[in-house]
Amino acid sequence: MKQIAIYGKGGIGKSTISANVAAALGERGLNTWYIGCDPKADGSMTLLGGRKIETFLERLRSSPGENRPAYVEGFNGVKCIETGGPIAGVGCAGRGIIVAVQELYKRYFADNIDVIIYDVPGDVVCGGFAAPLREKFANEVYIVTSGEYLSLYAANNIVRGLENLRVNLGGLICNSREIRNEERIVSEFARKIGSHMISFIPRDPIVRECENRGKTVIEGAPESSQASAYRRLADAILKNSDLRIPKPIDPEEIRALLRENE
Ligand code: SF4
Repeated sequence: MKQIAIYGKGGIGKSTISANVAAALGERGLNTWYIGCDPKADGSMTLLGGRKIETFLERLRSSPGENRPAYVEGFNGVKCIETGGPIAGVGCAGRGIIVAVQELYKRYFADNIDVIIYDVPGDVVCGGFAAPLREKFANEVYIVTSGEYLSLYAANNIVRGLENLRVNLGGLICNSREIRNEERIVSEFARKIGSHMISFIPRDPIVRECENRGKTVIEGAPESSQASAYRRLADAILKNSDLRIPKPIDPEEIRALLRENE
């Protein structure tokens, strides 16, 4: 069983990538679970026709001990769970992730699962959001970044967290913002931190069009080149054996890399 966690700067497209990879894995007939860890609980919506599901924590609060399944089956049989979070301004969202995932492990994760994808919000430097890694529920991380400074800067911070936690990085996913020399920048940054760029995802308006219809691209535009890009990424993740504990670099090196590629 592969247990992966997707990290990256807020707004970089983690949920879009996680949901499309999950849909592509489901399409191959793999028993795939998508675990959304964002308190907003909106990461799985494109797997569920645009619908927002009751979160795991809401269920625990409203009907503790009830025995209906905690997940909702989405497109291509992907089993979707949103861990949910505390009431705004109170408590720790990371704590919610721990409670939910511990419970899920007890009840479901002994089954025949091929891949579990944790779509984690924010930055792994927050101890709460590092929970899937700290608790060893995920052991392989992918970082979504673009070739922009702030996104690489956030990726570098995540790398620092992974180094501290001694967790393997499977690679960087470049979610293109159409920056000049972007593929080269992200590949070079990946090399500097001791990893590799596993995939380059082009920017394509079809992604938003499908999201507006509550669908992944795999469902909404299965013949598109964008769907092929997500399928290639899903395959690359499945086959990936290049897993290494990365090393952060000095942020000044990121600036130098960007200047060289202007
Ligand atoms: S650990 Fe993270 S999620 Fe928990 S309260 Fe702190 S910042 Fe929020």
